[in-house]
Amino acid sequence: MGGGTILVRRVNEGDISISTYVRLLTPELKQIHVADNTIRLGAGVTMATIAKTPALAFLAPVARSIGGPGVRSAATVGGNLFARSPHGDFGVALLVLDAVVCIEGPEGCNEVDLETFFKSRRQLARGSIVTAVRFRRPMPEDFRFVKISRVKPNGAAVLSIAALLSRTQGHVSAARIALGAMANTPVRAHNLEAALRETTLTPRDIERAVVSAAADTTPRLMRSPANGTGRQCFPFISAGCSRPEFLHLPRAA
Ligand SMILES: Cc1cc2nc3c(=O)[nH]c(=O)nc-3n(C[C@H](O)[C@H](O)[C@H](O)COP(=O)(O)OP(=O)(O)OC[C@H]3O[C@@H](n4cnc5c(N)ncnc54)[C@H](O)[C@@H]3O)c2cc1C
Repeated sequence: MGGGTILVRRVNEGDISISTYVRLLTPELKQIHVADNTIRLGAGVTMATIAKTPALAFLAPVARSIGGPGVRSAATVGGNLFARSPHGDFGVALLVLDAVVCIEGPEGCNEVDLETFFKSRRQLARGSIVTAVRFRRPMPEDFRFVKISRVKPNGAAVLSIAALLSRTQGHVSAARIALGAMANTPVRAHNLEAALRETTLTPRDIERAVVSAAADTTPRLMRSPANGTGRQCFPFISAGCSRPEFLHLPRAA
């Protein structure tokens, strides 16, 4: 386990399938490497550390959205990749950053992209652990994160949405979007991405994009434990995309 915020809670709630804890305390798992273009986070890096690391300032809002201070001081990057929906907010951000997951096991080291990891995380080989995640450093102005929750502050997500949006002369030239709390794991919103490209992110653009995303994303979104049906998800996606944090507009005073 990492910080145990999920695992220990399960035991406290009476899960008798867990009889032994194995805590990962290897110093390398706590390391953060920031090179020119690449960032590598050890699986044992906590949300509290991310929130206070200047080189990771663009990820601080994601880390700060997770639990309260006590949870953040224990909750790790590695553990977040295994969190069940509606949790897993950090994984949503990593998915949009096209992160690669480093896995070490009896067969040696292996690297998989995060989208593949989320599809197969239950089949992680016995004796294998996630050691780190690696991704390219984005242009800070391109990265956006919005979390909508019913309980303030720091409640579980009704929707979390991360995006990498580049604009050229006001138009969206590249878009990568990931949604949390909309399926069993964080998911890429490929249709929403396509529909937002070449737009100027006006309210009308966003409304249209959310609707055009419906046809392809509904079957997956309908499995959302947090939001029930896909139909109910769209107002949340629309609200998320209209937030100043998503549009990169100054907040109204
Ligand atoms: C009150 C409360 C509020 C919370 N709020 C949020 C929230 O808002 N958003 C959110 O995303 N999460 C939230 N969580 C869930 C949790 O705190 C985070 O998801 C956290 O990042 C999990 O990390 P951990 O290290 O504590 O996981 P652990 O409990 O240590 O582990 C979780 C699972 O992952 C496995 N695991 C952990 N590390 C590794 C590894 N390196 N390799 C292989 N397997 C591993 C463990 O075996 C276990 O099955 C909350 C939890 C609590 C108790």
